[in-house]
Amino acid sequence: MDVGQLHFLVADGDPVQRQSLAAMLVRLGVGSISEAASGHAALRSFDGAIAPAPAAIDLGLIDLALPGMDGLELIRHLARAKCRAGIIIVGAQGRDVLFSAESIARAHGVDVLGAIATPVAQQSLAALIALHLARQEGLAEVAARTARPELTFEEIGQGLQAGQFEPFFQPMIELETGHVKVLETFARWHHPQHGMLDPVDFMAPLRQRGRVDFLDWSMIEASVAGCRALHDQDIPISISINLAPHTLVQASFITQMRACLAQHRIRPDYITFELPESAVLSTDLLFLERLLRLRMQGFGLAIDDYGTGCTNLQALARIPFSELKIDRSFVDGASKSPALATVLRGCLGLARSLDRRSVAVGVETEADWDFLQGMGCTYAQGYYIAKPMALLDFPAWLKDWRQFF
Ligand code: C2E
Ligand code: CA
Repeated sequence: MDVGQLHFLVADGDPVQRQSLAAMLVRLGVGSISEAASGHAALRSFDGAIAPAPAAIDLGLIDLALPGMDGLELIRHLARAKCRAGIIIVGAQGRDVLFSAESIARAHGVDVLGAIATPVAQQSLAALIALHLARQEGLAEVAARTARPELTFEEIGQGLQAGQFEPFFQPMIELETGHVKVLETFARWHHPQHGMLDPVDFMAPLRQRGRVDFLDWSMIEASVAGCRALHDQDIPISISINLAPHTLVQASFITQMRACLAQHRIRPDYITFELPESAVLSTDLLFLERLLRLRMQGFGLAIDDYGTGCTNLQALARIPFSELKIDRSFVDGASKSPALATVLRGCLGLARSLDRRSVAVGVETEADWDFLQGMGCTYAQGYYIAKPMALLDFPAWLKDWRQFF
């Protein structure tokens, strides 16, 4: 789809602003534009996007201060009706109000592209339209992927036993020096019929059966072996491994881990385990004791997806973590959104004040990479730097990276 095929709805009570927005959309090459002067009229116009029809709205520009039914109420109705159109919120209110409106709309499950303060800058609008088009392309890809058959727990087990799983590695860059210090490992499955599969294809059945540990042990073994292979090539890099909490609480975890490290001659301080924020929130003292014991043995411990849970400071301070991995949703686009930048700065400040390392996850653009420089973040990771890759591809990638830096 290109911009000329888009059907826009401009919902704004102010006729002058409505016309100016419509004119801006024409300049941007939008093919079809409808207008609504009130919340109720806008809701009727969205009907096409609710029950698919030829005139379905693709994108709605919604002014928060719509007369009759205001923008927030309209968005709530759209969410309830499972409207699939993309939404751009506009308003004369301050950035804090716009950010809250955007967050609430997202929480309702509406496809929000962003919020823009009025007077709307053409550049900001163009960027959100480009984002919508990129997402549509992504969705088409996902739709093509979902044509695959569902894989059962038994099939996944057979794949693991047949050695069809392989860790892929994504570099984490130390921002101060530009050096590649750590590789995070992600499971990939070379399926004989379906090709390369990602965790989204096999995690759910493992989680449902409470057996993510099957995968975790296979990835631990292969990642530590990979770490040794790199050390032997004079690349003394660390490895960060995603773990399900139940793998870590197994009674034999530390003994098995030590045996694996001894076999490959890797010291524990080269290994970090990543646990989701929701898991480390546990108030179970025995669990905290296990985490502490890992740190006492020299392993690193990272809180993954930080910011998606509601860890309070007191709970966070007593978790013996060494790294805070800030969730992608606060990093991607932080250079363009003052509100995201504020949240990101807050997370980085928190890590610094607790004297822990921080990782900005999901750096996808040069703008976000530049933005992170000088912010006191320890590592950056994301598609802008590199996508996860096979171990064999890493030394050549590293050579290129070192030439660049
Ligand atoms: P995660 O640890 O939060 O991993 C980040 C996910 O985002 C990875 O997807 C990674 O490939 C992707 N990613 C990295 N950089 C970017 C970026 O710049 N933009 C975007 N859009 N995505 C980026 P992947 O490999 O599909 O992994 C998904 C999740 O599956 C991981 O989330 C992790 O929780 C889980 N996982 C993967 N491998 C393992 C494993 O061996 N054991 C366990 N327990 N979990 C695993
Ligand atoms: Ca992770």
